[in-house]
Amino acid sequence: MAIPEQVISEIKYRNDIENVISPYVNLKRRGKNLVGLCPFHSEKTPSFTVYPENGSFYCFGCGVGGDIFTFTGLIENLDYIESVKLLAEKSGISIVEDNYDNSMQKLKNTIYEINKETARFYHSYMMTPEGKWGLDYFTRRGLSLKTIKHFGLGCAPDGWDNLIKHLKAKGFSIGDMLAANVIGKSSKGTYYDRFRKRYMFPIINIRGNIIGFSGRALPEDEKKGGKYVNTSDTPVYKKSENLFAMNYAKNHCSEQIILVEGNMDVIALHQAGFPNTVAALGTSFTKEQVNLISRYSKEIVLTLDADAAGQKAVARASELLKNSGLSVKVLVLPEGKDPDEFLRKNSPEKFKGLLEKAVNIVDYKLLTAAKGIDTQNENSKLEYINKAVAIIADTDDVLARDLYIGKLSEKYGITRLAITSKVEELRKTKARQKQKKEISEVITPRYSRDDINPERRNSPKATAAEETLIAILLRHPDFFEEAYTALPPEKMVTALNRRIYQLLSDTIRSGKGIDISYFSDRLLPAELGYLVALQNGDKAGENPKIVLKDCIKVILEEEMLKTNTNSKDLSVEDWANNLKNIIDTKNKGEN
Ligand SMILES: [Zn+2]
Repeated sequence: MAIPEQVISEIKYRNDIENVISPYVNLKRRGKNLVGLCPFHSEKTPSFTVYPENGSFYCFGCGVGGDIFTFTGLIENLDYIESVKLLAEKSGISIVEDNYDNSMQKLKNTIYEINKETARFYHSYMMTPEGKWGLDYFTRRGLSLKTIKHFGLGCAPDGWDNLIKHLKAKGFSIGDMLAANVIGKSSKGTYYDRFRKRYMFPIINIRGNIIGFSGRALPEDEKKGGKYVNTSDTPVYKKSENLFAMNYAKNHCSEQIILVEGNMDVIALHQAGFPNTVAALGTSFTKEQVNLISRYSKEIVLTLDADAAGQKAVARASELLKNSGLSVKVLVLPEGKDPDEFLRKNSPEKFKGLLEKAVNIVDYKLLTAAKGIDTQNENSKLEYINKAVAIIADTDDVLARDLYIGKLSEKYGITRLAITSKVEELRKTKARQKQKKEISEVITPRYSRDDINPERRNSPKATAAEETLIAILLRHPDFFEEAYTALPPEKMVTALNRRIYQLLSDTIRSGKGIDISYFSDRLLPAELGYLVALQNGDKAGENPKIVLKDCIKVILEEEMLKTNTNSKDLSVEDWANNLKNIIDTKNKGEN
């Protein structure tokens, strides 16, 4: 391992897994383990399990697993070395940087540098007479110079290679510029600036690094090259995992965060005194973004246009926000307006008034359902009541349900009993559907065991034996020498288990004892999950030593069969003889 093992152990010792995971997952004790809702897939009953005993975690729903480093890497989107460093930093351990391959980290740092230099270039250009068109645009939209600087806004000059020339002069290579996605390569093999004649918005992550850009076209060019050009995913940027202005909002949103649609809406709201505002980046709202927000805030206000598209967006977002722990409110803006437009015509106080009147998600859905209902018409009324009952049934809070049932009963003169029984009926149907869905989710996790070990299909029995053998050795490393003599790694039938067995024998032989951290940079997350599942399962049974012997036998039989069927020049007689031998050995073993 590239980072000295005593350093890894020291970091593990100072960061116990419960403390590392609990800021992200609400953990509840179950026996000697802890369980919670998995942060890596969407679920309603906890299948994410933490094993404090050996410092590992595993999700029975999606199959991810590992140790504190794997967890930190997955949740913070860091590679192995970066997560080791982050945890080291948190516990005050310093790591000497020279002995390991940190080429990925170097590339990331270079991309940050390129992005910073690029943002500077766009901003300085905007402050020259040639770039005044950019400054004019932002000031025309009501932004002060202070705001423009705060967000690092700029504009990209027209032309194909202004940025390339500038970055070259600063000593950056074409390859790194491509990796940062600030330039592109044509089919003819020439390079060009990705952003040309656009208003530029840098995207900054929560640690304060510029990770990408959003470039908006001039109004007259919108049809030509698309209204927005955004950075594609790069080693430092994943658009589904970031939010525009989260770097500022994170310091102001502990009570409430406001989600709007566009970058200009965010900037206008920050300037008007609402620094707790963010926007999704170009695409629709994602699960990862919900996770990010729920780490910093208690309540989210969805601010959307009153049009049909806005309503759809609310419906989608509220589905994603279920079980996020965030309370959800909806602020409906007057028809046809976005927050930026609204603030140009109205005072911040007026927006504050709308914010205070934001309704909770149930009220919002009820209001939307009531649109176009004719209360004089019995059919229309009944249609609304049915919709309302479905909305109430969808609410998980029992007190809230009771409250809305009361309101509905009062308003339409229907007995509470009738509404309650209808609500309960719907909830029961939903619960059954949910259960069905969850069962099928457990059967087909995101990483199915067949995907991790595709050879299982050809040799299911031997694969199971290999897994049991590995599980036993993880628990009883003292059986290792005996197992190794009978079954050297090359006899393992499936390649994955052969690799794991080899790693296992290396670590046991070196006298280090079993610690899955040893594997965390040598196996993929799904493979590590597979290993952790084996480690924490109960495959060993009552008599591990006997089970171990049986496993070895099964594996050797299958291996022999495989070797023999694979050798093409084996005569039919030889093959039959071999088979007979195998069967004989098997029978002997069973007596
Ligand atoms: Zn999961």
